[in-house]
Amino acid sequence: MKQKIVLVGTGFVGMSYVYSLINQGIGEEIVLIDVNKAKAEGEAMDLNHGLSFSPKRMHVRAGDYADCRDATLVVIAAGVNQKPGETRLMLLQKNASIIRSIVQSVMGSGFQGIFLLATNPVDILTHIAWQTSGLPSSRVIGSGTSLDTARLRYEISQKIDINVSNVHAYILGEHGDSEFVCWSNAFVGVKPLTDVIKTYGKIAHEDLETIHHTVKTAAYEIIQRKQASYYGIGMVLAYITKAILLDENRIIPLSVLHEGLYPIEPVYIGLPAVINRQGIHHVVQLTLNEQELTALQASANILKQSLDQLK
Ligand code: NAD
Repeated sequence: MKQKIVLVGTGFVGMSYVYSLINQGIGEEIVLIDVNKAKAEGEAMDLNHGLSFSPKRMHVRAGDYADCRDATLVVIAAGVNQKPGETRLMLLQKNASIIRSIVQSVMGSGFQGIFLLATNPVDILTHIAWQTSGLPSSRVIGSGTSLDTARLRYEISQKIDINVSNVHAYILGEHGDSEFVCWSNAFVGVKPLTDVIKTYGKIAHEDLETIHHTVKTAAYEIIQRKQASYYGIGMVLAYITKAILLDENRIIPLSVLHEGLYPIEPVYIGLPAVINRQGIHHVVQLTLNEQELTALQASANILKQSLDQLK
């Protein structure tokens, strides 16, 4: 079957994602939808002029919700940003109603593929997308803590001067202020990070809190300097897309339902999961220490409270 991706929301995040897809040759047909139709059309025109430099033959065009009918993947990066004087809850209410209406329009086309969401607050909005769609939770996925995890791995790799692909560590929980590092399951190559600290000399226990702080505040720091962050998330979304389209069975920390693996509220939350052509194959169960389990519970409670506020 043709690998068709529909993107809803052609802003900074959405277009960074499509730019990554085209440069890496991920997918075959890409359809752009935005409430601002002219924007989607202009983006498609611009990208078409670069297609001759893509590693494979691809098609990009603006479209509408009927295009979702035979799509493998619908990616949602549509939303509004916080206005001055607006509370987080007001923003959440606005974006929740945007996501509900987008998901209803997508489902109205007869869509039977996979949803991938990036719009913030991503965990809560993915939960709402799942409830609205009626699809199994394995086919409604949020980017979760995948970007935060990429930032974490980058920071560790910089500190120890080892290639980032050899750093295995996750940020778990809410994609937001209550996220935490699962240090008990952090490895460099096959060596636990605790052993690396003992033997390698380039990283000490005191560095861990600094690394966590840098990762947690990364979005604020970027937004302060350039108003928005988008290249990182665009590339992460392309990586997740590749794992789905190429049936990779890849482990990525995503916003998923935890399937009762942990004694926490049943909400969408950032956990490592195996992802392939069917969506989430399963959530990977980690052995968390007491502190990490408490942090995961706290994060899930925050997400549950926000969901309850929306009702
Ligand atoms: P943006 O304002 O540049 O783009 C949003 C786009 O959505 C606009 O083109 C707008 O016209 C469109 N839109 C709004 N309502 C719509 C609707 N009902 N239907 C279709 N399109 C609609 O914003 P951005 O910088 O691209 O950010 C998009 C979202 O991604 C934000 O919620 C942001 O917080 C989030 N984000 C998530 C992560 C992550 O890690 N998950 C990282 C960065 C940003």
